[in-house]
Amino acid sequence: MHKLTLPNRKVKLKTLVRSNIADMAPYTPIVPFDVLSKRLGIPAEDIVKLDANENPYGPSPSVYRALANEKDYHIYPDPDSTALREALSRYTGIEATHIIAGQGADELIDLIVRLFVTPGDTVINCPPTFGMYRFDTELNGGKIIDVERKADFSLDTEEVVKIVGGTESPSPYRNIKILFITSPNNPDGSVLSDACLRQLLQLPLIVVLDEAYIEFAGGSRVDWVLEHENLVVLRTFSKWAGLAGLRVGYGIFPHWIISHLLKIKQPYNVNVAGSAAAVASLVDVRQLQVNIKKIVEERERLYSALQNFDFLEPYPSEANFILSRVVGRDAAGLKAALAARGILIRYFSTPRLEDHIRISVGKPAQTCVLLDALEVIG
Ligand SMILES: *Cc1c(COP(=O)(O)O)cnc(C)c1O
Repeated sequence: MHKLTLPNRKVKLKTLVRSNIADMAPYTPIVPFDVLSKRLGIPAEDIVKLDANENPYGPSPSVYRALANEKDYHIYPDPDSTALREALSRYTGIEATHIIAGQGADELIDLIVRLFVTPGDTVINCPPTFGMYRFDTELNGGKIIDVERKADFSLDTEEVVKIVGGTESPSPYRNIKILFITSPNNPDGSVLSDACLRQLLQLPLIVVLDEAYIEFAGGSRVDWVLEHENLVVLRTFSKWAGLAGLRVGYGIFPHWIISHLLKIKQPYNVNVAGSAAAVASLVDVRQLQVNIKKIVEERERLYSALQNFDFLEPYPSEANFILSRVVGRDAAGLKAALAARGILIRYFSTPRLEDHIRISVGKPAQTCVLLDALEVIG
């Protein structure tokens, strides 16, 4: 038999992976709750989970009823999420034709990047902020320009305007396509002013305003989308409605962007359970608003209490979490000491945040457990 000389297959196969992905650092997954509980030797129900900005009150009771009564789990979901978008239209006051539902806001971030960014294009990111803007940009071969937030974590609007080029100087960066801003911002909870947003909307790029935490702050800009053809607003059911595990988010878009997004969206992106739960949440907004109010009150109590520790400097927050600078001791060590007691908070190892911790607002009893532990550790 004729023998071909082939390259070493093992070596060859490795080169098949897209180079930007081959070069990516591996993903560090979050340790699942039950694994952690076993590792710590603490029963799952005794773990105080304040690390992912989840809603400690969970979904509204109507969600459990809707999920139990749903008859169509064996049928593919409506690709247009019609019922959900109509309910969202009533909730937001924006016509359903401006709304796309997604498998979490995360899916919409990816879709937006894929719609605009080709390899070599640029996206402006304003860290410290949510990590998915960078993740999805780099995954799609885009380049990130980081415009660091100021010392108080407010957006450096002037610097963004300068980089995009304004009218005077031509921009040194090629094809700046998108600016991602988060208000309230994760991880600090500060909000963007109307004046800054108005200025940024003058720029020749797509402004994506991520309002994942807006229900805790008020003052949504969803209606601005109707007047600005370059504004997109993202929202989610994960935080205020307690549906993080079901993955439902949505975006408010100008029509011209919607028409393209619908071409690239996976048809069955929002599943039957997620859709039913989201619709049921929107029927029960009053009940969920009671929980939001409890969380906002608890946030203020937690903020005052954290100020009493001389090693913590909390920042005021309009979201359901509080960022604190850790002074005179190691923030990673503090996180580890709390974890050993079954209290989970968030630590970021980036240079800007390595002396900070972020604590999600829990139920009053969880705050008490946290404060007691801080007393003991401190
Ligand atoms: C939690 C969070 C999201 C993710 O929302 P999902 O709907 O759960 O994907 C988006 N943006 C920010 C800023 C967040 O903190």
